[in-house]
Amino acid sequence: MKIVCPDCHYTAELSDDFTSVKCANCSLDITYGEYVKHVAYKDKRYRNILSDYKL
Ligand SMILES: [Zn+2]
Repeated sequence: MKIVCPDCHYTAELSDDFTSVKCANCSLDITYGEYVKHVAYKDKRYRNILSDYKL
């Protein structure tokens, strides 16, 4: 499944079993859990959504 790379914003590939994210452009190779944390850290709107859930 194609997703957006959090580092270079090119197309990264999420494995079919949702365990790993790989980007051929910047050599990103992380787990899906790390990817979610990465995106949450970089995207302030997403962080706001997360903080809303805590209220
Ligand atoms: Zn990348």
